[in-house]
Amino acid sequence: MIGTMGHVTNSETPRPNTQVVIIGGGPGGYEAALVARQLEAEVTVVERSGLGGAAVLTDVVPSKTLIATAELRTTADSAEELGIFTEGNEDAVAELRVDLARVNRRVMNLAAAQSKDIYERLEREGISVITGEAKLRSADEVEIKTTDDAGNEKVEVRKADVVLVSTGASPRELPTAQPDGQRILNWKQLYTLQDLPERLIVVGSGVTGAEFAGAYNGLGGDVVLVSSRDQVLPNEDPDAAAVIEDVFRRRGMEVLSRSRATSVTRDGDRVIVELQDGRRVEGSHCLMAVGSVPNTQDLGLEELGMRMHSSGHIEVDRVSRTSVRGVYAAGDCTGVLPLASVAAMQGRIAMWHALGDAVAPLERRNVTANIFTAPEIATVGYTQADLERGEIAGRVVTLPLAGNARAKMLGIRDGFVKLIARRASGTVLGGVIVAPRASELIFSVALAVEHGLSVDDVAHAFSIYPSLSGSIAETARLLHPVMDKTD
Ligand SMILES: Cc1cc2nc3c(=O)[nH]c(=O)nc-3n(C[C@H](O)[C@H](O)[C@H](O)COP(=O)(O)OP(=O)(O)OC[C@H]3O[C@@H](n4cnc5c(N)ncnc54)[C@H](O)[C@@H]3O)c2cc1C
Repeated sequence: MIGTMGHVTNSETPRPNTQVVIIGGGPGGYEAALVARQLEAEVTVVERSGLGGAAVLTDVVPSKTLIATAELRTTADSAEELGIFTEGNEDAVAELRVDLARVNRRVMNLAAAQSKDIYERLEREGISVITGEAKLRSADEVEIKTTDDAGNEKVEVRKADVVLVSTGASPRELPTAQPDGQRILNWKQLYTLQDLPERLIVVGSGVTGAEFAGAYNGLGGDVVLVSSRDQVLPNEDPDAAAVIEDVFRRRGMEVLSRSRATSVTRDGDRVIVELQDGRRVEGSHCLMAVGSVPNTQDLGLEELGMRMHSSGHIEVDRVSRTSVRGVYAAGDCTGVLPLASVAAMQGRIAMWHALGDAVAPLERRNVTANIFTAPEIATVGYTQADLERGEIAGRVVTLPLAGNARAKMLGIRDGFVKLIARRASGTVLGGVIVAPRASELIFSVALAVEHGLSVDDVAHAFSIYPSLSGSIAETARLLHPVMDKTD
């Protein structure tokens, strides 16, 4: 039974030796496998490329490792202000160069090592891992195609009491802007670059486009960001997006707003991006970051009559059940929220539910998300837009970081803390933090949202002086409930 709130328990009693087959070894799949094994199921994970999935091998781990280098390089920009210089060369810090071949080697080694760690962990737990391509033959039969070293294909069918589909998503491709893997690239192909692109055009200003545009700019590259919308990061808090766009422009990035790219073509070692209004943008490389499509084709889902969204994503409920009994789905193939943390939680929830453990349905609203630009944008809970639409009755207070003592010491001028709270009770409903390492700062706000703490609860806890988190406590103090107002 799925309740509306709190913990629920699957009414079916778990059977010993339940056979669980998981298709896809990304965070949705491998985290589910660990839970299923803990609950004493016999678990098989079928993965066609590498454990860890796109998250570990091509998306999260590589991008965040690249961004770690960009972050250090960007931090060095404030060295002069903080009094650091090189004897005999005043500009030495500003002239720090990035060896992209070395950076990319580190990125790929780190990703491969993490994938290996996951493989070893699953093996230690007694989970069977098969390298192959899987599809559903029926709700309780999975067909697995493997290829041996000599190239011979073999197909086997496994019986399953529970199936989890966690096959992820792939970069969306436009017919008029096909990646060639050399100069027109998707985000998975970036790590073959040996040198910083002379001029990188990033098409798409959503999270992926903004993160890479910021990273290559931070690494010292010349970057043009082509955005079809008025402002970068169109689905985020507009105040946060405004900070990022302002920082991008100040750091020398060319941001083309209201500019829809219609085609990307090669002309020798140049790439040409044509815009809808007839303008042409020229560069040495182009990164296409125009979204993802779910990997849900050729899995036998239509044949099973599984309910799908028109986007091709699998329909799931809050405990990861699909419309087909015994078949669950988790992660990017469901389109719930394209985050590794959400994929992992959906996968765990699926197994807790399927194997009869206590389980709380996914609470989408409480998911924290972070955009790894410089500064970062971290969010949780209700947004100011929800408030303005009248979905919630509350108040919002935004406190710029520029007034924070620690920020001043660190030379930080951009960023803010925004909290949203119910008017009468002061319950914290949501927050946005724009700051260096906002991803670390948001946790206190996430705790408040998850556990229904009030702004007074937050304000009365000690924060370090001086610290950036002091601005969270200060914002909460400014939201002290006004007693004569009602929700
Ligand atoms: C550039 C970029 C950066 C990102 N950064 C972050 C971040 O910082 N934080 C965050 O939380 N999220 C981030 N994300 C999102 C995150 O990558 C995804 O949400 C996450 O990978 C989803 O996990 P998953 O298990 O659903 O799918 P995946 O990680 O894509 O894994 C699915 C696996 O299934 C396998 N597979 C598919 N079909 C079959 C089949 N038929 N048989 C066998 N195997 C199959 C695939 O080979 C793949 O390994 C980022 C995404 C991108 C594009």
